[in-house]
Amino acid sequence: MTARRIALVVLISAVLAVPVVTVLVAFRRVAADSNALSKCGHNVHALGIAISEYQIDHGGRLPDAIKWVDEIRPYVKDPRIFRCPADPTSGRSSYGMNANLSGKRDSDIRDPSDTVLLYDAAHAGANPHGTGQDLPPQGRHRYPRFQTRVTLYWFLFADRAGYVREKPFAPTPHW
Ligand SMILES: [Zn+2]
Repeated sequence: MTARRIALVVLISAVLAVPVVTVLVAFRRVAADSNALSKCGHNVHALGIAISEYQIDHGGRLPDAIKWVDEIRPYVKDPRIFRCPADPTSGRSSYGMNANLSGKRDSDIRDPSDTVLLYDAAHAGANPHGTGQDLPPQGRHRYPRFQTRVTLYWFLFADRAGYVREKPFAPTPHW
């Protein structure tokens, strides 16, 4: 082969490889996003179970929001479940507890299926808690749907059902 022909083959291979690599990179990113999203879901469900176990030993009361992580820690085997895999900040818990539910009993909550118990908190900390101000503005889980990327949040509601909700929220979660 002449040098010119070799150069041509290299050029054609490079041109063909670019879209293939782009597609592979895109697939890998989607797989990573989807793994993080499902892992986060497992975390919030497991934390919900730990909270229920805590309640059994504490007269049916939910933990005190300002120290909820400390309070349920004895009921959590693997402390890694406090960390969302997509959380870029550092701190013990990526999840916050709805401060309005501090110390309440399940029977005190009017709409448990719409009332947030735990949420993806913008700032991980020792015992994050709040009433909706501390949601990550861009969401924590971004997921491509068709051509647009949607902003997704994991919520564990007071009925212990966890849902991914997309912003703008419909219906609006209660705090
Ligand atoms: Zn998450």
